[in-house]
Amino acid sequence: MEWDKSASLLLEKVPPFVQKTVREKVETLARERGKTLITESEVMAAREAFMGRPQHTAAPVQHAAAKKPVDNEKLSILKKYAKYFDKDGNPVLYQVKPCRGAEVNCPFLITDSGILEDKLRKRLEELHFTEKLINKIEGQILPHHTMKLAVSGCPNSCSMPQIKDFGVHAIEPVYVDSRSACIECMKCVETCREDAVTVKDGHVSIDKEKCVHCGLCARVCPVGSIKASEKKYRVMIGGKVGRHPRFALDLVSQADESAALKALDVCVDMILSSKTEHRFRTLIEQQGIEEIKKRI
Ligand code: SF4
Ligand code: SF4
Ligand code: SF4
Repeated sequence: MEWDKSASLLLEKVPPFVQKTVREKVETLARERGKTLITESEVMAAREAFMGRPQHTAAPVQHAAAKKPVDNEKLSILKKYAKYFDKDGNPVLYQVKPCRGAEVNCPFLITDSGILEDKLRKRLEELHFTEKLINKIEGQILPHHTMKLAVSGCPNSCSMPQIKDFGVHAIEPVYVDSRSACIECMKCVETCREDAVTVKDGHVSIDKEKCVHCGLCARVCPVGSIKASEKKYRVMIGGKVGRHPRFALDLVSQADESAALKALDVCVDMILSSKTEHRFRTLIEQQGIEEIKKRI
């Protein structure tokens, strides 16, 4: 659709990473209004529609209209980074990084990290994390104020949950089933990278201290002497890089999906109810990981 000069100038003022989306929305609205040329008034009409003010000819854009107007001054530093905004230009003050296991058919994959990734995002949206964090922080919002999350599909942890505020990786705990006689093929011993399996005189044992619950030994056992239990998640919190890097601390060693989401609720509550703007790791150390575990 053609744009006149004044409309094009207005589009140029929009941050580059949302220009394509804005262009599409303006043109969609103009078409609904029976227009064939985009003028300044079409842009302004679209802008009013996106801000939630009713238009007599256009259907409101639900996503934008549901959000409160944002204090743009607070976001001026984050605006330099596209990753803190969604495709409509709304701020999103969390990032959830999945691993690529499902995408690349990774042989280690236990659970597609995208499944929990979607649920974590949805929960943060339901909790209005972004809006509440913007209201809580006085002054400029900086990248370290945002919440970093990661989900990995197995203990190899390619998305690095150990250095995120909230990190999760899938696990597949295993157990020895004494009803299935071991044939001493030694495949489990050869497969286990942790040297956690011992087979002697037909007796199989797994060192729980060494085992990381990757589930591989159960997959290679031809007779079911080692079996996999229900898939779970290991949840860890408070990892960070920077001047004083820290690995995340274990919060729930074997969580089902609902426990993982409950753990997120607790962490969000800690961040939003804190009277200070300390890093999340500092809040954890002040409260004590054992006290936080009691809230799950
Ligand atoms: S975390 Fe595991 S499943 Fe995901 S890509 Fe890495 S090795 Fe594969
Ligand atoms: S689950 Fe993984 S780490 Fe644990 S014993 Fe089996 S192969 Fe080794
Ligand atoms: S893979 Fe199974 S059958 Fe083979 S040694 Fe291990 S437990 Fe025994």
